[in-house]
Order: sequence, then structure tokens, then C-alpha cells
Amino acid sequence: MALRQIRIQGDEVLEKVCRPVEKISPRIATLIEDMIETMYENDGVGLAAPQVGVLRRIAVIDVGEGPIVLINPTVLETSGSQTGEEGCLSLPGKAGQVTRPNYAKVRAFDEKMQEYENEGEELLARALLHEIDHLDGHMYTELVEGPIHDVTYETEEEE
Ligand code: ZN
Repeated sequence: MALRQIRIQGDEVLEKVCRPVEKISPRIATLIEDMIETMYENDGVGLAAPQVGVLRRIAVIDVGEGPIVLINPTVLETSGSQTGEEGCLSLPGKAGQVTRPNYAKVRAFDEKMQEYENEGEELLARALLHEIDHLDGHMYTELVEGPIHDVTYETEEEE
């Protein structure tokens, strides 16, 4: 496995529509492993293939319950509404308020090309919809209400 370089907003690869995956070639399998490693290394909740420069419909998510692999995902159903802070590894150190459905149900294929459905509320719904947006060339910044602001992390100071 290897870390991949994350593309930053302004890179045109983030504005393109990704192509579906037809089969799990060794190259795609490696890409998925690398995406998971890259997501964890950067403390992300999700990562989509275009964010590492690959225009394929693949995303990975981990909201704290283990990695989820989404290949060729489609949104089946959404409901409700949530407004909250959202950030993106392609816009590091920034966040903004985004309103999305509070519930999402998706169909996708896993890393073995087995079709499955996944559903979630709150953070998982937000992550599913955020990552699927990336596969169509969309960033959360298109949905932000109000200013995009700097995220300040608490730093531990030595005494
Ligand atoms: Zn993102």
C-alpha cells in the first residue's frame, strides 16, 4: 500500500464526472487500498478517487465503524435535513455550514464487486452524499451557507 497525493480544490480533476468501474483489476484493488490508507493518514472521514487524481466512481468512508468501500454508488433514497459543519481533504484547514438530508440509502459494489446497500443518518449520510458528489465533480463548497472559515485545532503546549 502507498499513500497518494491529495488533489486540492482548483485542480480540474475535481470538477470532472468519473467513469464507472467494470471490474476489480489489480490496479483498482491497489487504488482502493491506497485510498483507505490515505484517508486514515489524513484523518479524513471519506475520500473519493478523483481526490487522488483517478476519474473512477470509487469512494471510501470511515465514520468510526470501519472502512466502507463504495464502487459505482447510486443514491436510492434520502429524507430529512441536517445542517452542520463540513470539510474536505481537498480543502484542508477549512470548513463551512452545509445542509444535507439527514438520512441516505445507497446501493454500491464493494471491493469484491458484490452489490450491497448501505444506509445511515447524520454523519454517515453526510459522508455518503459528500463522497458521491465528488464522483460527479462537485465539492461541498457549492452548497456552503455563509463563509468558509478556517478550522482551528487545539494545540497542546508544553509547560
Ligand atoms: Zn471531499
